[in-house]
Parts: sequence; C-alpha cells; structure tokens
Amino acid sequence: MDISNRKTMDLNGRSVAVIGAARSGLAAAKLLTKLGANVFVSEANEKIDVGELKTIGVPFETGGHSEKVTENDLIVVSPGVPQDSEVVNRAKTSGIPVVSEIELASWFTATPITAVTGSNGKTTTTSILAEMCRQGGLTTFESGNIGTPFAKVVLENLDSEPRNAVHVLEVSSFQMEQIHHFKPDVAVILNLSPDHLDRYGSMNDYVEAKMRVVENMTGEDHVVYNLDDQFLCEILKTDAEPAPFSAGSSGGLRFCLNETKIYDESREPFIYLNEISLPGTHNVANFLAAATAAEILNVSKDAIKQVMKTFSGVPHRLEKLKTLDGVTFYNDSKATNIESVKVALQSFTAPVVLILGGRDKGADFDELIPYLAGGVKLVITLGEAAERIEKTLSNNPPFLRAHSMASAVSLAYQNSKAGDVILLSPGCTSFDMFNNFEQRGNTFREEVMRL
Ligand code: ADP
Repeated sequence: MDISNRKTMDLNGRSVAVIGAARSGLAAAKLLTKLGANVFVSEANEKIDVGELKTIGVPFETGGHSEKVTENDLIVVSPGVPQDSEVVNRAKTSGIPVVSEIELASWFTATPITAVTGSNGKTTTTSILAEMCRQGGLTTFESGNIGTPFAKVVLENLDSEPRNAVHVLEVSSFQMEQIHHFKPDVAVILNLSPDHLDRYGSMNDYVEAKMRVVENMTGEDHVVYNLDDQFLCEILKTDAEPAPFSAGSSGGLRFCLNETKIYDESREPFIYLNEISLPGTHNVANFLAAATAAEILNVSKDAIKQVMKTFSGVPHRLEKLKTLDGVTFYNDSKATNIESVKVALQSFTAPVVLILGGRDKGADFDELIPYLAGGVKLVITLGEAAERIEKTLSNNPPFLRAHSMASAVSLAYQNSKAGDVILLSPGCTSFDMFNNFEQRGNTFREEVMRL
C-alpha cells in the first residue's frame, strides 16, 4: 500500500494487521474497523485478556506473530513493540508499510496537535497544558502516553470534529519510532537525559527517536524547548518557529524569571514563584513549558496564571501523602530514572530518608552521589538494583536493605525523626516486584497509611 500522501489515505477494504493487543493496539483496531479496514490483531503474549478483542469481533492470534501478519496491506505497531523486533523486521523485509498508532490516528484528525515529549515531566506538563487549554475555553483532548490512546480520541470525533479544539498529546520515544507524516502544530520538548537504555542500544538511538517529533514540522509550526538543556539545544534541528523557555535565565523569552517572580514578555510581573502550586524548580520548568505552548495556542494569560496557582499535581509524582509525628511522606514512584531522583532530592531542604531501587535499567547510580551528600541521611535499598546501589554508595550515606515495600516503609519510619522527609523515589522501574509504577506507589501509600 502506498502511504506517501497523508491526505488521500483510504483504508476502506484494506487489510491491516495490528501488532499488540493492549490499550493502543485495541484502540487502533477499533479505529481501523470503523474506517472499513479488515483488521487482524497479532499479540505475542498468550496470557493477554482477549475479552475486548472478542467483543470487537476482529480475528486475532496470541502467543506469537504468524505469517498472517505479512499477508496485509499495512501494519500498525503498538508502542510496546520495539522497532528492531523480529516481527517489525519481517514486515519491513516484505515491503509492507509499518506505522505506529499515533501515525495512523494522525491521518484522520484535522484538529491541531500539541505534542509533549522529553525524558522527564511529560505527564505532568501534558496535564498542566491540557488544564490551561480547558480553562482558556478550548475543547481539549488529552491523550497518548498519558492514558487514553490517541486513536481512541480520534475515533470518538471521527464524524464531527469540534471547532476551537486541540489535541494535547503526550508522546514517548517509542511512539515516534514508526512515524511518517505525524506532525504536531506545537511540539514541547522538555529535556533529554539517558533513559530506556535497556531498549535503545545507545543514547544516540534514544535521542534520534525522541527528536523525530520535529522532523515533519514547518515554519508555520512552533517548537517549545528547554533553553537550559544544553544537549537538547545542540541537537535540535528544525524548520519550526523556536519558542524557548528557561527556568534558569531571563530576557527575550515569552516568560522570564528572577529569584521571586515570573515576568511576561512586556516585563510585567506575572506570578510570584511562591504562588506556584507544585514544589521544585523542575516543576517551574514544566509550568513555563506549558505556559509558552498555551500562549502559542492563544490561551489567555488569566487562564495560564490560574492553572499555575491551582494545579494539584499528578499522583505518583512527588505526591505528598501525609505527615505523621512531624515526618512527611512523599510518593514519587514514577521516578524511574536517575534524573527524576535528582530533581526530587533538589526539591527538599529537610533531611531525607530515600527509598531507592527496583528493576535495574543500567542507570548510573554514581551520578546520584553529589545529590545524596548532605541532604540524605539514610538510603533504604529495595529490589533487584539494591546490591548495585549499595556498592556504589559504599556506606556514604548509610543504607539499609529492605525486602518488601512494607519493610522499606517501616525501616524508613523507624530511622526518621520530626522534620524529616521520607521519599520513595526509586530511580528504577517497578517490574521486579510490581506490575507497574502505579501499583508500587499505591502499595507505598497503603503501607504509609497503615502506620
Ligand atoms: P514522564 O511522563 O516524562 O515520565 P512525569 O510527569 O510522569 O514524567 O514525572 C516522572 C518523574 O519525573 C517524577 O518523579 C517527577 O517528579 C519527575 N519530573 C517531573 N518533571 C520533571 C522535569 N522537568 N525534569 C526532571 N524530572 C521531572
């Protein structure tokens, strides 16, 4: 099938294979069915729940990808399927076009797209920006990595798209792997740091996948990017209009700041930093990124300011749980890489008992040492990475090993005193002990509430 012209894409009567039957794959299958395609779903996991597939009524296979996959005009891959996997290679060798779920969905929407990407802060910034757009009176579709698949939102609005609407889409590097025409009207790039090195052989491959977000953008589009991220600034090459933001410098930007305030372009004071609803300089950066994008989307300054003051945060991201005997507990279960642990530690001046560890993604724990010095009085190690973390720390600060979340919470609490912070910021994925970071954070919350 020829997919060179996005505007004339017609899938009616075409046979299309969808690889992966989780959330995004199912959404793609439903969109394709509605578009009149003959859909076949292929899923590697034989234990996956096939209830919804049966309800949709499309043929499917589980437990592997048979030859049937390549008997199609087009192949749509879910974000969980790596681009160098056997099935993707087989499809490419057969000359069948392979596209990602967001690429497919983008062919069937005329609503402007704002895509938020980066190594850290995507979900937080996507939520802030979507809230600013809503407060600013735009019909706002929030989707992508954040939860609802893009294909689902596009399907729901296929017959009549509202005017004055915007897609606010969180995109991960995985979703950018198989794009061809996908083009946001506004791209927001928050930062770039090593992550997912277990999936990408090198930082270069990872960065290359992330930077594909700008590859189809033109002079009419805008790219909002972090001026404080030197690496990002060096590698960003785009035809789109640049709209930098910075939480570190001032002058010449849509929003600038000094020690106490954020100013707007006309140098009028906009908001005091102590009025901003979330802790940490990284959240100032997230707010500035969202505010810059919101301004480009013509959201009023009042709506932007209102959200900066009232946004209540996203669960599992430096989420304050409770204070018990003067000890405050924070759930940062979503901190699955070192960079997030660093920013979490920088957000506190109080002594911290840090719960660190999980499944090792090959991260460099050495980098944490300067951030632990002074502020962290004890590290509770947990999960598969525990031993490697302990070797790296060499007892400075001291550590204690926990074998469950319950024991981690109780060890942390026993070794803390009034005025301390107990912080779960694992710097690792959760898959050694939990199904996902949400389950890890919820377990932490339950254990804390039990105290
Ligand atoms: P993502 O969707 O990119 O994983 P989240 O908003 O879910 O980002 O936050 C993930 C983790 O990163 C949390 O621990 C959060 O506190 C931290 N974080 C949020 N914003 C930033 C940022 N701008 N830079 C670094 N870390 C951040």
